[in-house]
Amino acid sequence: MIASSLPAQLPDLDWITDPTRVAKLSQDFNWYSPVLKAKLENKTAEVVVRPKTEEEIASVVSACATSHIPITLRGTGTGNYGQCVPLEGGLVMDMSAYNQVLWIKDGTARAQSGIRLIDFDKQAKHHGHELRWIPSTFRSATLGGLYGGGFGGAGSINYGPIASLGNILKVRVMSIDEKPQILEFEGQEALNFHHTYGTNAIVLELEFALAPHVPWMEAIVCFDAFDEALHFANDLSVGSGYMKKEVCFVSSSVTPYFTSLAAHLKPGAHAVLTLFAPSSLLGVQELTQKHKGQITYLKSAQDVEQSNRTLLEFTWNHTTLHALKVDKSLTYIQSGFDPSRYVEQIKALESALKEEVLMHIEFIRTKEGAVNASGLQIVRFKDEKRLNEIMQIHRDHGVQINNPHVFTLEDGKSANYLNPKVLSAKDQLDPQGLLNPGKLRTWHRKVSEPTQG
Ligand SMILES: Cc1cc2nc3c(=O)[nH]c(=O)nc-3n(C[C@H](O)[C@H](O)[C@H](O)COP(=O)(O)OP(=O)(O)OC[C@H]3O[C@@H](n4cnc5c(N)ncnc54)[C@H](O)[C@@H]3O)c2cc1C
Repeated sequence: MIASSLPAQLPDLDWITDPTRVAKLSQDFNWYSPVLKAKLENKTAEVVVRPKTEEEIASVVSACATSHIPITLRGTGTGNYGQCVPLEGGLVMDMSAYNQVLWIKDGTARAQSGIRLIDFDKQAKHHGHELRWIPSTFRSATLGGLYGGGFGGAGSINYGPIASLGNILKVRVMSIDEKPQILEFEGQEALNFHHTYGTNAIVLELEFALAPHVPWMEAIVCFDAFDEALHFANDLSVGSGYMKKEVCFVSSSVTPYFTSLAAHLKPGAHAVLTLFAPSSLLGVQELTQKHKGQITYLKSAQDVEQSNRTLLEFTWNHTTLHALKVDKSLTYIQSGFDPSRYVEQIKALESALKEEVLMHIEFIRTKEGAVNASGLQIVRFKDEKRLNEIMQIHRDHGVQINNPHVFTLEDGKSANYLNPKVLSAKDQLDPQGLLNPGKLRTWHRKVSEPTQG
């Protein structure tokens, strides 16, 4: 059977069959990479389903398992590496209508995977809490998409990436079988389904720890000197007395792309975009003075809410988006610095590659708790060969590259290590290999031994 016959088989579900809409719902933000765009732009599913309940999900899974139809899961498609682009057609399962908060209590919560992060945070705020990490795509991105394809975001300066132990408490998943199994994993075992691009199970529900809600202030601090801006960002990140949620450093080669913030960014300014607690305002002002900077933009949480404009949407991979709006020939790389010498590494790479690589650093904590720099540098793209050379120059400086120009798990962030439990979970929960085929390169379907006699 082919995927396009599924709607007739399960007519009560919400199906999308119009080829233009199906093609749109088969794509994500892989076009940030000219390399991925060329490989993925014509890939599309045959049909999209938007289930609302666990029963609806199970009925689709059962039909697909019976007829060997590939299933690619989708949150809202803001991923960057073609994670939710179906390579072998079949079905896209859009999880965004499966979106209930199940409970919030004692600084923890449980929710269905399709909930948008903005909707979750609005509800958590009523309980005095908020998400520990929020990507700059929080307005549209889903919880399951963040868990299945993301890393972290604002808040990772305090709580590290999603994968830091203690962040994720439990996950409820569904297998791909004619009679789908529902299983629950907790603690470290729950991470076997994190950042696996929906290749080894369908994530139904997540239980996770929250952060206390803070009315974050937002500021842009400008500097004439690259080193002063970098040291300010580092002191703010490392300083234990400053309560912050976000520290983003962009060099003067990036700030001209923030056209809607131009009134707050004089030409040639290096800038730090930051979110901090009102109690840290005096500290931020003193630190600004120490590094000869100037606060050019300052908003209270109330101002931010009323204007519906947040600096978060200029940080993380939104920085790249603003640059791409001005110059479509740009692309980017992702890098993890060495926590013991990131400031020196940033300065060395700035002097080695400043003409081609525009510096953008997000300050985070590692899983082990050390402050570190995570780069989302913008690159003036020449060709794939030079892009690879630029990534190699970073490696030669001791900087890890999480290559955003590849779509398989093993060649991206997991290039240095893929937990074998990711593969064994796939053996157990997707034995036919129907989930997002082509993204987990080292998994091979087990061929059953022929029986003797
Ligand atoms: C402008 C921009 C800024 C960004 N900023 C950040 C950032 O700050 N931090 C960050 O980490 N990322 C960032 N990203 C990447 C992306 O936005 C986030 O990872 C986001 O959380 C993905 O959510 P989504 O709902 O769009 O997921 P999708 O892109 O739809 O899916 C992501 C992956 O998860 C899988 N998946 C989705 N739902 C499920 C499920 N229920 N079960 C199993 N697998 C599932 C999909 O198959 C896919 O492989 C950014 C991207 C852009 C374009």
